[in-house]
Amino acid sequence: AAKVAGVTVRRWDQALDERSTAFARLGAELRTALDSGQFHMVYQPIVEMPSGRVHAVEALVRWQHPVRGMVSPAEFIPVAEQNGLIVELGAWVLRTACLRLATWRAELGTDAPARVSVNVSAKQLARPGFAAFVASVLAATGLPASCLAVEVTETAVFEGGPAVTALHELKALGVRIALDDFGTGHSSLGLLQTVPVDTIKVDKSFVDDVTAAGRQAVIAETLIRLTDGLGLVAVAEGVETAEQAAALTRLGYRYLQGYLYGRPVADPDFARVPAAA
Ligand code: C2E
Ligand code: CA
Ligand code: CA
Ligand code: CA
Repeated sequence: AAKVAGVTVRRWDQALDERSTAFARLGAELRTALDSGQFHMVYQPIVEMPSGRVHAVEALVRWQHPVRGMVSPAEFIPVAEQNGLIVELGAWVLRTACLRLATWRAELGTDAPARVSVNVSAKQLARPGFAAFVASVLAATGLPASCLAVEVTETAVFEGGPAVTALHELKALGVRIALDDFGTGHSSLGLLQTVPVDTIKVDKSFVDDVTAAGRQAVIAETLIRLTDGLGLVAVAEGVETAEQAAALTRLGYRYLQGYLYGRPVADPDFARVPAAA
C-alpha cells in the first residue's frame, strides 16, 4: 500500500488477493466445519391460505462458526460451490432434512407438514447419479418421494444438459421440482416447457412492493396467472406484512412464505395457526 496525499492507496490486485485469500480460508474452514458438526438445519413454514395451515417447510442450512459466530449461507454456499464441498454438504443437508420430516411424520401424524423443500445447487444437480442418491436417501429415511421437493434456480437449469436430465429422473421418482427465485435469473419461459416444474417460487423482490400499484404488483399478478394457466403452484417468498399477504391473496396466491408466518428455526411449532391474511 502507498500513501498518496495522505490517503492509503492499495493496488487493486492486492485487494483482489486479499479477497481470494479470505475465500480460500473460508473454504478450508468449511472442511473442518463438516467434520466437526458445525452445521445445522432450520425450517421455515410455507403456509396455505386461507386456512393458514403449514403446508410445507423449506430447509435452510446454518453454520455456527466457533469464532465468527453465525455465517450466512449467502456467504459460504458460493464458496462451497467453488471448492466442490457443496456435494458433501448438500448430501448432509438432504439426509438431515429428509430424516427430520420422517421424524415429524412419526411424531405428529397428520399435523406434520406435507413436504420438505430442499435447496439444491447447480453443481450437485449436474453430478451424475444425483437422482439415484436422492432415491437412496428416501429409502434410508423412509420418507415417501412425494414428501420431498427440490428447489433449483433458473440459472442451474438454464445450461441444460445433465441438470435437466437429473430433474426428469427426480420427477420420475415422484419428487417435486420448484424453480427458486423465479424471475431474477436467466428467466426463460421456455424452461417451463422443457423442465418438469411443479412449483414456482416468486422472488421476494416482486413481493416487497406488491401493495403499491406499480410494476411489482403487475409482475406478481402475471406470474400467478401464468402458473395457474400452466397448472403449476406458486409460492410467494419474503412475505413480511399482513398488507402484502392480503394483496397476494387477492391476486390469487394460495401459498405464502415469510417472516410474517415464521422465521426459519430448528423446531417450528406447527400447531400454532399463523396470522391469517
Ligand atoms: P433462498 O433459497 O431464496 O432462501 C430464502 C432466504 O430468504 C432465506 O435466507 C430465508 O431465511 C430468507 N427469508 C425468508 N423469509 C424472509 C422474509 O420475510 N424477509 C427476509 N428479508 N428474508 C426472508 P437464508 O437462510 O439466509 O439463505 C440464503 C440463501 O442461501 C438461500 O436463498 C439459498 O439460495 C441458500 N441456501 C440456504 N440453505 C441452503 C442449502 O441447504 N443448500 C443450498 N444449496 N443453498 C442454501
Ligand atoms: Ca430456496
Ligand atoms: Ca428463493
Ligand atoms: Ca434468494
